[in-house]
Amino acid sequence: MLLREVAYCRPVDVEDALAVLREHPGARPLAGGQTLVNVLKLRAASVDALVDISGLEELRLIRRSPDGGLEIGACVTYDELEHSEEVGEAVPILAEVASHTVDQQVRNRGTIGGNCCYADPASNYPPLMTALGTTMRVATPAGEREVAAEEFVLGFSRTAVGTGELLRSVVVPPLDGSGVGYQSLLIGRDSWALARAVAVLRAEPTIVEARVVLGCVADAPLRQPAVEQRLRGRDPSPETLAEASRASCEGIEPISDVHASGGYRRRMSRVVVRRALEQAIEEAE
Ligand SMILES: Cc1cc2nc3c(=O)[nH]c(=O)nc-3n(C[C@H](O)[C@H](O)[C@H](O)COP(=O)(O)OP(=O)(O)OC[C@H]3O[C@@H](n4cnc5c(N)ncnc54)[C@H](O)[C@@H]3O)c2cc1C
Repeated sequence: MLLREVAYCRPVDVEDALAVLREHPGARPLAGGQTLVNVLKLRAASVDALVDISGLEELRLIRRSPDGGLEIGACVTYDELEHSEEVGEAVPILAEVASHTVDQQVRNRGTIGGNCCYADPASNYPPLMTALGTTMRVATPAGEREVAAEEFVLGFSRTAVGTGELLRSVVVPPLDGSGVGYQSLLIGRDSWALARAVAVLRAEPTIVEARVVLGCVADAPLRQPAVEQRLRGRDPSPETLAEASRASCEGIEPISDVHASGGYRRRMSRVVVRRALEQAIEEAE
């Protein structure tokens, strides 16, 4: 299906973009367009105007924070993430996930901000942002606000970015010796996932910090406090990790659809949690 005619504008900076969005409440930011254009073509949504933010320099920066973490502009593409030296040095998992996202055409255009703002339950980045303890910087007409990644996704394709606002950047804290495990069960190679788990663990040598997040099983990424509790203060043995993974999915009813039943998703989620824990411990310094 062809795209219906729609007004298109290219603001000169973030202030200008916010002004256009304020004047036209039916307008939407356009980043890489890899989701939005398809959604519009399929008539699953309509907009009055597209505000193309993809060229705004302020949204394309990648810089090391003074604490050794990273600030990444919302319009940094997957390809730029994959090849950034700063990202590779500070938080390499961000580059690795980018390198596995779909195909090169999508990686050339799709952005980290668009991925977080579209917030499909199977999107690659929202659970990773939550597990890493990321702060999302939102530009608003009244200034800027910071939202913890854990509170950023409010539901299916709903985020803390309100009408007339923009995600400006994501601020990822330093890993400080933590290991990251990122595991997905994919429908097909380079495709959407049925189950996903991200674990960030620090061990000295007992586990002192644990953040474990599930994706794909609910409208938003879910922290797994029961798993984290079973890890803190424990020796990171295979038995500890396996036992903790069995506590995931408590109180969750994953959806059933054409790809898998809810029961299968639940069982596979526990498997990917265990694998993510094993990977995180292997990578922890
Ligand atoms: C064939 C195919 C397969 C895919 N498979 C996967 C997959 O397996 N995993 C995965 O995670 N993704 C997948 N995607 C989605 C892809 O990663 C998209 O690029 C991404 O979800 C959206 O990024 P974008 O920059 O293209 O955003 P756009 O499509 O431009 O925008 C998406 C939404 O976010 C809003 N938005 C964008 N940027 C901002 C901002 N800075 N502030 C506020 N709102 C903003 C837009 O208004 C729109 O509502 C796939 C896409 C395709 C085409």
